[in-house]
Amino acid sequence: MGTGSTDCDDCGEDIPRERQVALSGVRTCVACQTHRDRTVINSAINRRGNKDSHLR
Ligand SMILES: [Zn+2]
Repeated sequence: MGTGSTDCDDCGEDIPRERQVALSGVRTCVACQTHRDRTVINSAINRRGNKDSHLR
């Protein structure tokens, strides 16, 4: 086992052992990881959107 958590950093839910094994060092449950991924993508898009609106 790597440096991952046994429970989710975001919501505190137990991370399934399968997930801990599959993704060594994982620190969030599936739901929170999905949410984090979406947040990263959205913020990247928003930054570009804001830049574009400034140029106009
Ligand atoms: Zn979670």
